[in-house]
Amino acid sequence: MNLLGSGPKSALLGAVLSFAVPVMLTPGAALAWKPTTHVYFAERALDDAQDGKVTIESVDYETGVVTGKVGTYSVDSKILAAIRKYPSHYRAGVLGPDAYPDILSGQQSIHPDEKGSGVKGGSDTWLQYIWARRDPFSNPVVKRAFQTLKIPTDSRYMTAFVAGFLTHAAGDMYGHTFINNFSGGPFTFNPPSNATKHVLLEGYVDKRLPKNALGGDFFNASISGIDRLIYTYMVDARPGTYLGNTLLRQGAAGTTYSIPRIFSTIRANLARDIKKYQDTVADYKKKIDKCKLTDFSCSKVALGTKMTAYITANGIQQAYRKAWIKDIDTGLRKWPQVSHEVAKALFFNKGRTADIAKAEAIMSAYARDHILSMAGAPDFVGATAKVIGKVIDAVTPKALQAAIKKLKDKAFDTMLQAAIGMNKAELKKLLTSPQNYFNSVMGSGGGEKITLANFNAQHLKIADKGYSNPNEAFDYRKFAAGFNTVQISKMILMSRGEVSRMLRDIGSKSTASGPNVMLGFMRTLDGNVQWRNGMPAARDCVAYRKIFMKQAGDNASCAGAAKPKPTPVSTGGTPAPKWVTVRNGRMPRGVFIGGREPGRTLPVCRAAFNKGVHPGKVVAGKCNIGWGGKERTFTSYQVLVASSKSFRWMKTTGRLPKGAYVGGKEPGRSLVICRAPLNKGVHPGKVVAGKCNIGWGGKEHTLRPFEALVRVR
Ligand SMILES: [Zn+2]
Repeated sequence: MNLLGSGPKSALLGAVLSFAVPVMLTPGAALAWKPTTHVYFAERALDDAQDGKVTIESVDYETGVVTGKVGTYSVDSKILAAIRKYPSHYRAGVLGPDAYPDILSGQQSIHPDEKGSGVKGGSDTWLQYIWARRDPFSNPVVKRAFQTLKIPTDSRYMTAFVAGFLTHAAGDMYGHTFINNFSGGPFTFNPPSNATKHVLLEGYVDKRLPKNALGGDFFNASISGIDRLIYTYMVDARPGTYLGNTLLRQGAAGTTYSIPRIFSTIRANLARDIKKYQDTVADYKKKIDKCKLTDFSCSKVALGTKMTAYITANGIQQAYRKAWIKDIDTGLRKWPQVSHEVAKALFFNKGRTADIAKAEAIMSAYARDHILSMAGAPDFVGATAKVIGKVIDAVTPKALQAAIKKLKDKAFDTMLQAAIGMNKAELKKLLTSPQNYFNSVMGSGGGEKITLANFNAQHLKIADKGYSNPNEAFDYRKFAAGFNTVQISKMILMSRGEVSRMLRDIGSKSTASGPNVMLGFMRTLDGNVQWRNGMPAARDCVAYRKIFMKQAGDNASCAGAAKPKPTPVSTGGTPAPKWVTVRNGRMPRGVFIGGREPGRTLPVCRAAFNKGVHPGKVVAGKCNIGWGGKERTFTSYQVLVASSKSFRWMKTTGRLPKGAYVGGKEPGRSLVICRAPLNKGVHPGKVVAGKCNIGWGGKEHTLRPFEALVRVR
């Protein structure tokens, strides 16, 4: 019997074989911190926690200097027992959704926000779900089930893993905010430069890790003892489970290419058909029983003949379905360990290389030993190819077949070439020697442009002007985004009461509202400044600044005790526009450029004057506005900080378009921001009585037509 014959099955098998490695690799480009960096920061918290206490340091927010300590706080007793006993499971947890249930499902379902994954609440829903499973064997039913399977029922494995998993989220929160600042937003293939920048910058930060800290057990991450739990909670998406109905829901965005989802769907359809068969046979039996010999409206013999015919026609299919389900069960149970091995080969190994060949070998073996049979070629003898084809058709929905075909068409290199203009070799080059491409890549495209020299000096705070001293590493206590990651990682290990005590110590009006400091606010692991959605330590921003440093991507003005923000932050990573006060002529990051004139760009500013606030333009460190027929300059003013994606300019002859952006006011009217051309330049100003008023050459000019600034949502 040729199991690899024609029909949908062979397309499916071919697709599964060809997509296995490529699809797992591609989203791996967007890891914020690379896994080794993630674990490096987590290790700092783990080290500190070994004596049962963690130290929260106090900082100068603006300058990014550690000034002392706020206090030392007890680690939660259960977490402490777990991470002391099973640090390697904690590290596996830190790899988090980059490895479990697998990198693809993690990137597509756990990292995105509600809109991206279709999971209400986005990443936080996943985090709450994982957290709720930190102590699985306190549930006697689960405990008994695992005892029957002869699997150790020590909850500490899972507690360590879950603490690590939240720590991954913490790293993403500061890491993505940091990387997105330079890439122009969360990872995307469009524009291609975004993807390139992510890959390069993540790779470069990883290269600057202190190498002496990567010895010993550093690369020892393990899921032994919990692979079955990971299967149960993150892979086995059968109907009726929260995973199957909600987190990895059939048809949800991002699950199209997820192995747990694909095979859970096929398995559910097989189970449905098995039940249909059983119901039909049971129905015949019932009818036969009910039919009396004297009853001429039915015939026991005829019914018996029909039933036998049905069983003959379908019995072999039934047996085949059962064998197929068994193969899916076996394959999916192996999946956590396979994902784990693939993740280690790709980005968490002593050699610190992306060992693509090894990852491919692991996946090929899995494909050979499991995926073949999981896709409908079970180790089952007795059915003809035709029968098998029929069953496969019945349980593999059209949409799934289409998805699989699409996957097949998008081989890794093709996809990479089309999407980011790179092939596998070039990607590897970029990851291996990011320093060589730093200036050209980071000097163009979206986000803040930066040179290698400035990146070293301003962010990593290292002396190397380029890459002349590869051994020079950053000190995480000077690298703001890294320091922030470590600081929050320590809080994850603290009990709720200790978090509240720490909040009191920094004078915060907030208390620990949830069971863990990382729960209740993280809408997406990919987004910017997620702490502002209500992280307990960030609700009071004055208090926040006592323990966290200002870092790239953190462009908030501090308005004292801030309430948790009710409005969602988009995964587009475009923060809401803000007015930021300029002191001593020092521009904040991300100022919105409204115009230009020969030799310079003109950021949009506003200044208070004569009972009003007037939009204008920054020239030579001052804010210039038009007022009373004159151009007036101010040294004390605010600038507009916003992504260029937040706005567009619309031409008008005087009528204001819908969504026109108000940037100031004066008695009796609000002042919309505009710009108009004058003398080889384009100058931002304010709309007054249907004209654009700007300051130029010492005078106020009123111009029409002009462009009005319009907010894009
Ligand atoms: Zn992540």
